[in-house]
Amino acid sequence: CGIIGYIGKRNAVPVLLYGLQRLEYRGYDSAGISVIDKTGNKIIVEKQVGKIKDLQEHLWNKKIEGHIGVGHSRWATHGSPTIENAHPHTSQKGTISIVHNGIIENYLELKKELIEKGYRFRSETDTEVIAHLFEDFYTGDLLETALKVAKKLDGAYAVGVISTYEPDRIIAIKKGSPLIIGLGKDENFIASDIPAVLEYTKDFIALEDGEIALVTKDNVEIYNLEGKKLNKKPFHVTWDV
Ligand code: GLU
Repeated sequence: CGIIGYIGKRNAVPVLLYGLQRLEYRGYDSAGISVIDKTGNKIIVEKQVGKIKDLQEHLWNKKIEGHIGVGHSRWATHGSPTIENAHPHTSQKGTISIVHNGIIENYLELKKELIEKGYRFRSETDTEVIAHLFEDFYTGDLLETALKVAKKLDGAYAVGVISTYEPDRIIAIKKGSPLIIGLGKDENFIASDIPAVLEYTKDFIALEDGEIALVTKDNVEIYNLEGKKLNKKPFHVTWDV
């Protein structure tokens, strides 16, 4: 399973597909991507059961373009490997799209609360609660919302979030599952592992458990769960793909 995210000048779609391919060694049963289109108003989601190659072929003639997006390869833990259960998962209004590696231990309890509030679930995954929580908690500030969501989640997660509310940023949160930030020039990345983005950069920040990243095309900020900004030193790798 794996996560990838891109923000910058390139078309996100090939970058996400390439990254997912480099993460194939981690194992998976289905895959998907979501990008915010050029208007900034719409999230396009595409998923496939099977190999990254199948997703790639599925996307071949679609000419999807966007400069921000997230991708996911899924190793199903809750819900069978179907298109509905594949990530990204999107909030009811279609305004927030998330990818998740790991397991949300308290998802049944959260799901019950959300259903009582009127949220409808479209998958059998533990993950989908995260998309609805983001919508439910959205305060006008995606980073602040992520702090609130992270406090509600028990279990292990690496999560990447994009939203039409704030189409210039990716938010990433991490606890127990790996996540790194790749630092480029006028572009930045998130990924489960370094090889996913080594084609584009050799400078990285490793997220630790309980940290949140705010990633724009020309800036990366890391916070702790109290919302305090952290001063993390990037590292450079010398190896090649
Ligand atoms: N628990 C989530 C699911 O079953 C994420 C699995 C993963 O890490 O790929 O959809």
